[in-house]
Amino acid sequence: MTDFAQTVKQQADIVKVIEQYIRLRKAGATNYAGLCPFHKEKSPSFSVHAVRQFYHCFGCGVSGDVFSFVGKIENVSFPEAVRIVALKSGIPLPKKEYSSPEEAAEARMRRKLLDLHEAAAAWFEEQLRGPEGAVAREYLAGRGLNADGIKLFRIGYSPDSFNGLRDRLSGMADAETLRASGLFTDAETLRASGLFSSKEQGDGTMGPLYDRFRRRVMFPICSESGKVIAFTARTLETGEKAGPKYINSPETPLYSKGQVLFNLDKARTSIRQHEYALLVEGQMDCISLFLRGIQNVIATSGTAFTEHQVALLRRHTSNVAVNFDPDTAGANAAEKSIALLTAEGFTIKIITLEDGLDPDRYIRERGLEAYTKAIRGARRQADYLIERARQMFPGASAEQKVKAMNYLLPHIRRIPEKLSRDQFAHDAAQKLGIDSAVLREELRQAALKRRDHVEVKSSPLTEVERILLRALCVDDPEHVEARRMAAEALAQQPAWFESLGAFPALQALAARRAADPMEVVEDPAQRALLAEVLLHETRSPGEEEVAGALQQAQERALEKRQRELRALISEAERRGDFAELAILTQQKLEIDKALRQLHDRRPPES
Ligand SMILES: [Zn+2]
Repeated sequence: MTDFAQTVKQQADIVKVIEQYIRLRKAGATNYAGLCPFHKEKSPSFSVHAVRQFYHCFGCGVSGDVFSFVGKIENVSFPEAVRIVALKSGIPLPKKEYSSPEEAAEARMRRKLLDLHEAAAAWFEEQLRGPEGAVAREYLAGRGLNADGIKLFRIGYSPDSFNGLRDRLSGMADAETLRASGLFTDAETLRASGLFSSKEQGDGTMGPLYDRFRRRVMFPICSESGKVIAFTARTLETGEKAGPKYINSPETPLYSKGQVLFNLDKARTSIRQHEYALLVEGQMDCISLFLRGIQNVIATSGTAFTEHQVALLRRHTSNVAVNFDPDTAGANAAEKSIALLTAEGFTIKIITLEDGLDPDRYIRERGLEAYTKAIRGARRQADYLIERARQMFPGASAEQKVKAMNYLLPHIRRIPEKLSRDQFAHDAAQKLGIDSAVLREELRQAALKRRDHVEVKSSPLTEVERILLRALCVDDPEHVEARRMAAEALAQQPAWFESLGAFPALQALAARRAADPMEVVEDPAQRALLAEVLLHETRSPGEEEVAGALQQAQERALEKRQRELRALISEAERRGDFAELAILTQQKLEIDKALRQLHDRRPPES
């Protein structure tokens, strides 16, 4: 590890870093638990130790330090992971930490683009307040947005100008960077869009770049950390000249449509608190709900979810309440989003609003309480789909029922857990009124036939192993004698411990004292055992406790030998081998005696 990596490892907090990827909750004095990001699971078996700064998953066995976590989850090399952790922890990177000049240039470009977007957002806000912004202010007021809401979401206005923003930003960056920002467009694109009028063409002040957004209400799109990285722009024009109702920033080095969830920066705290995310289609729906008190709301912006967005969301929750409008053009995208979320193991509920209202209108017209009630009334995805199947294929004929089943089966197949699939199939059969045993069985089989795995969690460690592992990991002076006792016994009487599952870890720890015990144990299975103990440790064991554990280990070893001798003795008796029998009997007597002495030494049970 380089000096820089060492510094980063000392200064970074693994809990804080991992929390930026997955939800963690406190599970003990020094450890946190959450759903493992490296395998699919429903109950948390992923643990992070705040003091010893490592993570371990009892489900799939991954473990390591902060760099290994970031390396795995971001799929990057060690040096890259070091850089990411440094950035996340606010530790300045030395220049040489960029792996190539290209990478350094890319980082410079991104910084520059962030600056440009920040300046653009501020300029659009300014324009909204100015005289030209009156038309946009009127529109926003009509949508029920007040000054506070406009300020919070940094909503702005792009005036009817081809060079207003360009003139403001041109001093900040060169033409190439301005072009890369996506905020501008060139004459050719303008001409192709049909929006380039001859009057504007005649304007001698225009340079080679023109403002992309004109006469539009500007909604900034932010990264998860709240930095403006793109815009959605709604037109205020009507008629042919208006162009599309909404236009977005194009893909840029900062912004990729499929990698951002609108409002996640503002919603993430509330999503964690409420343990679910409310998913809506439109950005206006999202803003409207947020400003009226539903703060765990995010928007897909009318497109289907991508796997990247699912991964983003999973860091915060695996429960989603969906409030899409089933009758819009977005219904297809909505179904695709739900399908992907289901396949990724999310629990989904569907909110349906009365009278076909969209979330924005519903909360404005009927208030927060009515909307909260609608959330509470959300149906499980299974119930929602079964209801839809019944509406689409009404009637009691076998043919209709088969059609309804075939509509449902693709949805059922996507559910990762076998039990949920079985339950879904069972509910569907009941609610669709399928009483044919053959159809029922077909439905059940179709639902069940999907590979799945069940995680069995039980500790293979005995109390003796726990005490000794803990004792060997201490490094405070107060418990140094307890550690010495355990290490000495392991070195001198290995036979006492040989049959223990954690023997290799115990031996490794006894042989080498280190600040980070997880580093000493190399075998992954052994490290898993150690991780389990460290994650559940409360305090370091004292000398008496260690002495007790050592005595028990000795006893177990003697008892095991006693059992072996018994077997050998009966074997010798059967063979009539009296010479052997005498030796074995002598050995067993010695063991019996040793065990009696050990029992006598044991303090009376309280
Ligand atoms: Zn795992």
